Amino acid sequence: MIEKIEKKERMKIKRAEMPAQKPEDRVRNFNEVPFGLTAEQAITEAARCLECKKAPCIDGCPVEVDIPGFINLILEKDFAGAARKIKQTNSLPAVCGRVCPQEEQCEIKCVLAKKFKPVAIGHLERFVADYERENNLVQIPAVAAPTGKKVAIVGSGPAGLTVAGDLIKLGHDVTVFEALHKPGGVLVYGIPEFRLPKNIVQAECDVLKDTGVKFENSTVIGKMETIDELFEMGFDAIFIGTGAGLPNFMGIPGEQLIGIYSANEYLTRSNLMRAFDENDYDTPIIRGKNVAVLGGGNTAMDAVRTSKRLGADHSYIVYRRSEAEMPARAEEIHHAMEEGIEFHMLTTPIKFIGDDQGRVVQMECLNMELGPPDDSGRRRPVPIEGSNFIMDVDLVVVAIGNSSNPLIQSTTPGLETNRWGNITVNPDTMQTSRPGVYAGGDIVTGGATVILAAGAGKKAARAIHTYLSNGAPK
Ligand SMILES: Cc1cc2nc3c(=O)[nH]c(=O)nc-3n(C[C@H](O)[C@H](O)[C@H](O)COP(=O)(O)OP(=O)(O)OC[C@H]3O[C@@H](n4cnc5c(N)ncnc54)[C@H](O)[C@@H]3O)c2cc1C
Ligand code: SF4
Repeated sequence: MIEKIEKKERMKIKRAEMPAQKPEDRVRNFNEVPFGLTAEQAITEAARCLECKKAPCIDGCPVEVDIPGFINLILEKDFAGAARKIKQTNSLPAVCGRVCPQEEQCEIKCVLAKKFKPVAIGHLERFVADYERENNLVQIPAVAAPTGKKVAIVGSGPAGLTVAGDLIKLGHDVTVFEALHKPGGVLVYGIPEFRLPKNIVQAECDVLKDTGVKFENSTVIGKMETIDELFEMGFDAIFIGTGAGLPNFMGIPGEQLIGIYSANEYLTRSNLMRAFDENDYDTPIIRGKNVAVLGGGNTAMDAVRTSKRLGADHSYIVYRRSEAEMPARAEEIHHAMEEGIEFHMLTTPIKFIGDDQGRVVQMECLNMELGPPDDSGRRRPVPIEGSNFIMDVDLVVVAIGNSSNPLIQSTTPGLETNRWGNITVNPDTMQTSRPGVYAGGDIVTGGATVILAAGAGKKAARAIHTYLSNGAPK
């Protein structure tokens, strides 16, 4: 264990800067942008933590990771032990260390945040999870004696994977049904390689497989089997974690023109179908020269940064509010700006214009100004009359949010939903209106975050275990 230093001295240590690819290099490849902390950097960063007794950072974490506990293990150079400590409450630390909005969760609550920079909790989380995986120290969890109970999990995003991991350890027989040909949900089809390398998600799924979880990919529940048919097949309980994968559109003239993608389609072609890798994959994708991405969230940032890497001369974010209202993570906006993404704020398209081949060539836009706050608490964008102008574009990606796919709801009698089509659950147990059927993640909340989906999965797994332990009456 390294010598503990005085609190005053610890506060003088500067927050470690994560080394990263230079913007001019990274816009030409799909490799991950930050390289991760070195062991030396991680230990120095860990020394900044004051090991607060009532650690407020833990309150900021949706799954209450023992943050000072794992940071202390880094100081003791027990990096794998630190990863295991995180995994007690968060089964996906290598993913969360990369994509969680720590700046709004644990780090904003860190006592150092007021006067200095907060401890780099996310970077430390990523470091220990990578150390454990890269050094083959990931332990296959012990599994309890078989209970004879079968659980079906529909959807393999962070919610479904978490439920699978927790229930297999308790001795249940777990099968994950996934519509796509690879498991991982948004982690594989949505978030690009340069933010979350796919081998990391695959490694998480491999551990689940080695623990005994069965994966049935390319299986669309609601089309191939319904929820009721899964019960008839012998499953005792079902978890629905199908996410929010139905793209919203603008609903303006010209939206059907060639060269206008939903962000889901664009990102799925590039990430899951590997269209960016022309040498090894023949997935078609439009490589626009003047690309407009509509929206201001993480999805929009991922799409616009992808377009730059696919060879665009100009990649624009077109967003109807101002930067202050953008829902994307601060780090993603910062990286996009460094990469030369051009931001058209307070702008909204009202019409897409095509050529005689039916391809989009221009977009008519309006300038906006901010009015009083709307239901979301953000200031409402109001069009400025007569401010119309034209933008030349040959590719448009619509990234204005997703809704839930209605397939399961419409094929499952008695499954209650709210007015947005999201499945309603008891918030303490994640049980739906149907006995033995549980749900969690984006299908319940609407588009949210990885850690909230994983947290919902943990809660559901506990409740499913109790239900199965009590005889699982149907
Ligand atoms: C582009 C993008 C970037 C994002 N970036 C971030 C970020 O940086 N940080 C963050 O915290 N969050 C981010 N999010 C949000 C986050 O990814 C989601 O909140 C999270 O993945 C939700 O997890 P989930 O398990 O509920 O669903 P999902 O990850 O959506 O997984 C659902 C799975 O269910 C499958 N499925 C759907 N219907 C069926 C069916 N009928 N039968 C079988 N399978 C089905 C789908 O194919 C999918 O694989 C991002 C989202 C997107 C789209
Ligand atoms: S609040 Fe900050 S300094 Fe205190 S325990 Fe958490 S990370 Fe360490």
